[in-house]
Amino acid sequence: MRIKKHLVRWGFLAAVAVASFCGLSPLTHPQSSPPPGSSTQNAVAPGVPEKRQYTLLFTGDIMLSRTVGSFMEARKDWSLPFRLISDTLHDADLRYCNLECPVSDRGRNLHHLYSFRADPRVIDGLKAAGFNVASQANNHTYDWGPEALMDSLDRLRAAGIQPVGAGQNILAAHYPLLVKVGSLRIAFLAYVNIDPKEAAAGVDRPGVAWLDPTQALTDIRFARPLADIVLVCPHWGVEYALQPTREQVDLAHQMIDAGADMIVGSHPHVVQPVEKYHDRWIAYSLGNFIFDQEGPNTHRGLMLKATVRDQHLIDVQSIPIDINSAFQAKLAPVKANSPHPVLAAKVPSSPDPAK
Ligand SMILES: [Zn+2]
Repeated sequence: MRIKKHLVRWGFLAAVAVASFCGLSPLTHPQSSPPPGSSTQNAVAPGVPEKRQYTLLFTGDIMLSRTVGSFMEARKDWSLPFRLISDTLHDADLRYCNLECPVSDRGRNLHHLYSFRADPRVIDGLKAAGFNVASQANNHTYDWGPEALMDSLDRLRAAGIQPVGAGQNILAAHYPLLVKVGSLRIAFLAYVNIDPKEAAAGVDRPGVAWLDPTQALTDIRFARPLADIVLVCPHWGVEYALQPTREQVDLAHQMIDAGADMIVGSHPHVVQPVEKYHDRWIAYSLGNFIFDQEGPNTHRGLMLKATVRDQHLIDVQSIPIDINSAFQAKLAPVKANSPHPVLAAKVPSSPDPAK
């Protein structure tokens, strides 16, 4: 009886999922995309052969509060952080980032060690940069509580930027974001396991998708038949560590084995290795993209450019970036086609199993 109920529930969810792909027109601004739940748009005109190849661009942590926010405010320029990298961003069919703050003028400061909340006007910059998908599954989107988080999700959606990894309850937070680019169907899942755990969404409580390994693997198996490409974006790991922990490597491998095509990690604020595993890719941490930290490796990061041909992920390139003193991301002075950072032969165990 329990199994039957379970199947009925997943069957219903699958039907909803198939009906809820967000269409994104390739090479157009995301604000042209319809809201979630509307019918899928096909970007290809009748009679025109569909594109066989798409590129997806992934960036690391974007934090638009604190000094970055005041810098933009003083200049009344909300696109400033992205201006020097705009061409590279727009040379892709879809752009993803981890947005490490709520975008809101609501909520109550919960006074975490660092509490971030970005001015709603930063949405203009994110739109101009062309971001289509932004993870809100991180340890800062709850800094101003559930009201600011929910307001942030609404504002992003209204701007045509689809948030992932947070929602009005646990089901919404864990539910895959389904995006269609031309004929390509992509499922995004995003998680966090960095405190505060009170930010985790509950049965009737808004919040972020907490990275529980068993639940994440179940979510991936659910998303697998719904899309051509399944992308999992965990916010995890140890800040400033140059290698992932043994626990992260093991979980990333399990995620790939469960059906993920690519893992795009964030949180350590520094770049960690990119590993090819069973013909799939794992980027443990892309480092920072826009941030105001001053540590030795925190003013640089990686973008990943993934190429999908005939519905299969065929290549992933690393594109290193630097962050200048005006908090602008720009291409690092090395070849764009740079080698991936390498995973150590022996990765350490986690210093704190709770993280
Ligand atoms: Zn973080």
